[in-house]
Amino acid sequence: MNQNSITDKDAISKLTSEFNKLPGIGPKSAQRITFHLLRAPEEQARLLAEALLSLKQKIALCSTCCNVTESDPCPICRNRERNASQICIVEQPQDILALEHTGIYKGLYHVLHGALSPTEGIGSEDIRIRELLSRLQNGAVQEVILATNTNLEGEQTAMYLSQLIAPLGIKVTRLARGLPFGTELEYADDVTLTRALEGRQEF
Ligand SMILES: [Zn+2]
Repeated sequence: MNQNSITDKDAISKLTSEFNKLPGIGPKSAQRITFHLLRAPEEQARLLAEALLSLKQKIALCSTCCNVTESDPCPICRNRERNASQICIVEQPQDILALEHTGIYKGLYHVLHGALSPTEGIGSEDIRIRELLSRLQNGAVQEVILATNTNLEGEQTAMYLSQLIAPLGIKVTRLARGLPFGTELEYADDVTLTRALEGRQEF
C-alpha cells in the first residue's frame, strides 16, 4: 500500500472512518450508515451536513448555567416560571435532558462539564466550579441539589462541592440512593430519576 492510498481516501472510506470515531459506532455500523447515505436522496445527505455544521456554529454555552444553548441566557435560565432558589448540579448537558424529561423539577441547573478525577488529572479548575460559586454569591439560592453521577468521580465531586457550598449557608442535598452505584444520569429511567429527585437527602 503506497502513501497516497492511506492519505487520499475515497469519499466512502473517509466518511466511514469519521462515523467510526463517534461513540457507540463500530466499523460495521459506520459502513452501514455510509452506504445508507449513499443510497439516500441527496436532500437527506445535505440536511445532515447542514445540521452538523450548524451544531458547531450555533451552539454555545449559557453564560449563567453553562448548558449548551443557541441563545444566551438559555431558555431554562430565561424562564421566569422556574424556581431560581434551587440549582441542580449535573456533570453533562445530557443530564439536564434526562431530568427535564421527568417533568417534576422546576428549579435551575448548573453544568460542570465533567467531574473531579485525580487519577485523570481533572481538578477543580478544569470543571465549571468557579462559575457555580459566583452564581451562589447573590443570596437568591437556597438549595443546591447535587446530581452528579453515582460513580467514584461523581461522588468525589459531590463531596467536594458540599464542603464548598455548605459554609455559605445554602442547603445541600444529594439525589436519593435509588440510583444504583455507577449510574450515569443520562441513562437512568424516568421513574428512577423521579424517585431520586423526590427522595433527595440533605448531604
Ligand atoms: Zn442557562
